[in-house]
Amino acid sequence: MAKRILITGAAGFLGSHLCDRFIKEDFEVIAMDNLITGDKRNIEHLFKHKNFEFHHHDVTKFVHVAGELDYILHFASPASPIDYLKIPIQTLKVGSVGTLHCLGLAKEKNARILIASTSEVYGDPLVHPQSEDYYGNVNTIGPRGVYDEAKRFQESLTMAYHRFHGLETRIARIFNTYGPRMRLNDGRVIPAFIGQALRGEDLTVFGDGSQTRSFCYVDDQVEGIYRLLFSDYSDPVNIGNPDEITILDFAKEIIGLTGTQQKIVYKELPEDDPLQRQPDISRAKEILKWQPEISRSEGMKITYDYFRGLSHEELEKREHKDFFEHIRR
Ligand code: UDP
Repeated sequence: MAKRILITGAAGFLGSHLCDRFIKEDFEVIAMDNLITGDKRNIEHLFKHKNFEFHHHDVTKFVHVAGELDYILHFASPASPIDYLKIPIQTLKVGSVGTLHCLGLAKEKNARILIASTSEVYGDPLVHPQSEDYYGNVNTIGPRGVYDEAKRFQESLTMAYHRFHGLETRIARIFNTYGPRMRLNDGRVIPAFIGQALRGEDLTVFGDGSQTRSFCYVDDQVEGIYRLLFSDYSDPVNIGNPDEITILDFAKEIIGLTGTQQKIVYKELPEDDPLQRQPDISRAKEILKWQPEISRSEGMKITYDYFRGLSHEELEKREHKDFFEHIRR
């Protein structure tokens, strides 16, 4: 009998790649999404698969799945700074109430659950690189606090279910991840720069571009999550690529990759934008025997080719111009 897995946020960027992976591994996949920031096009190719079913549902409402369940991956959440500025309360709810529902379901079904946490639990880190034992530096009331604090609460709640109910739990602290199926207008730096290059616009670097990020290609991320789920380790594990770069140097790389003739323009640095971010992945290396395999230049080429290959019409659709309309309903 195929194992059954529920994936929340299944129509999102990471969720959809996880659906692909678990279908490939012969799991029965129950995909759940309320499609606020997710896009059904990301999983459309799976609808015909006999082991795949889609539930259009908001996990902040009571979650029920009929039958047995072996695993849950809780990946539902807006995940880009401009999204969580637009929908702050939904962001708080999906990380808190949504997680509560998923943990309750896991307990009911005696399923193992992995939750998607984030490097944002480290806030604007004062320790560099960030290892799992760093407690972080988060502004609870700042604009990003809605995401960061929801994810921090999510971790606490998950550990409480683990300790109090003996639930099998896993916590992945995900660092900036990129690849095909990101939303071109979600505001994050990689789709932003690629979109600008494709449209022939200037590249917008926020601040002086000296802030750093470390970008992980999606296939590496999925492999790390997959290994974590099947490990027996319940403390948080950083999953990311330690190859750190300043945003200004990254913009220059994009100019090289895309051959755009446009220039770099500077915009104000958003409030609480972390100045540095780099995962210490010693724990993942030791426990999961995992480390990223795909270099930024390889991963960025695949990602750029993907966006370049989409038709103009498809690009328009993927811009999610109806975003606000959708969430007001
Ligand atoms: N950024 C930028 N130009 C853009 C979008 C983002 O310079 O058009 C910067 C942003 O200020 C941040 C970094 O790129 O320092 C990564 O931002 P992103 O939104 O991708 O994710 P974050 O890591 O901040 O959650």
